[in-house]
Amino acid sequence: MVAETPIWRDRLTAEERAQLGRGAGAISLARPDILVVGGGIAGVATAAALHEAGLGSVLLIEAGRLGSGATGGAAGLLTPEIHEWSDPEPFVDLARLSLELWGQLEQTWPGGVGLIELDWIGLAPDPDGFAPHQRPVVEWLDHDRVAELVPGLARPMAGALIRRQARVNPLRSLARLAAVLPAVATGTAAMSVTTEGGRVTKITTTAGDVYPGAVVFATGMPPMLDGLRLELPASRVKGHLLVTEPTPVRLPGTVAPVATQLDDGRLLVGGTFDMGDETPAVRQDVIDQVPGLDNAWLTSGHFRTGILMAPVTAATITRWISAGEPPAEAAAWSTDRFTQRPHLRR
Ligand SMILES: Cc1cc2nc3c(=O)[nH]c(=O)nc-3n(C[C@H](O)[C@H](O)[C@H](O)COP(=O)(O)OP(=O)(O)OC[C@H]3O[C@@H](n4cnc5c(N)ncnc54)[C@H](O)[C@@H]3O)c2cc1C
Repeated sequence: MVAETPIWRDRLTAEERAQLGRGAGAISLARPDILVVGGGIAGVATAAALHEAGLGSVLLIEAGRLGSGATGGAAGLLTPEIHEWSDPEPFVDLARLSLELWGQLEQTWPGGVGLIELDWIGLAPDPDGFAPHQRPVVEWLDHDRVAELVPGLARPMAGALIRRQARVNPLRSLARLAAVLPAVATGTAAMSVTTEGGRVTKITTTAGDVYPGAVVFATGMPPMLDGLRLELPASRVKGHLLVTEPTPVRLPGTVAPVATQLDDGRLLVGGTFDMGDETPAVRQDVIDQVPGLDNAWLTSGHFRTGILMAPVTAATITRWISAGEPPAEAAAWSTDRFTQRPHLRR
């Protein structure tokens, strides 16, 4: 039987669940130094990093509940090393750094962020497997070793092991990060943007007007708001996750493409990848200033790795706002790559 229930919410404490619906429909701060629009992992991590960096008052607004977008339906795997097989080097470097930042958050954040370390095993039904790209971080497993680690496979096969990757319950991380924020308004959508002299002066929301010193848009898809002209290629991709009832099967961490073992014995399987059309997918994140505006930034299009990339995104935007100029690592992800550097489009 398949039950269409959210997979992460049922693991939260009452306090964590309450965080996700904070400040419903009410804006407590009409003139924040920084407004963050969007309460997914990118927005919440960025708002928390800005607040912790002491850059002034921060207001976070979210149209639904925190995590009601892709964040609440993600597998929550933080596995930068596997991207070496498929993604450009600057992305993999940033992803590794982001996993390190997740580790630091776990150590330093009040109560931690719910990080769980795990090993990743990839099964290689093809005898050449992952061979063309061997790296020291990968331990190659013959079929006997795979059979020891993953008992019950229908046919013997070799594989690859990468240690010390991680996962989170994305909603738990979101709730823990949001807990430090003094001003959060859920159930509050940004509707339109007023600009004057190359700056955002007002954001009209469903709960009233906000006059921010600076704005970060972290709306999942690039923001589509009256008064904000943005032409970024982006398309929606739908994914499904499946979680079994608790089973006696024991997997060592995550076994691709089979499943990830959760702490209560359930197996997390997925996700699917349903493209509605042939438009090129936005492969990596966008971190950039909104073209033509001095006090507005955006991060969107995180595709399949937004949970992994949230801390590095938050740190990059915080450093940029604080220093007044882009950190070096932001260059690879600027919006102009869509027009000027086709090799990064992918
Ligand atoms: C099935 C599946 C599995 C995945 N597995 C992984 C994984 O294992 N690891 C990984 O790193 N990533 C994974 N991802 C990808 C990950 O979920 C996303 O990249 C990430 O959640 C994006 O976060 P975000 O904050 O940018 O966007 P979102 O989570 O979509 O948040 C954007 C928020 O902005 C709000 N918003 C939009 N417009 C407005 C507005 N005008 N006013 C106010 N609020 C607004 C939305 O309501 C939403 O809550 C997976 C995704 C799916 C679908």
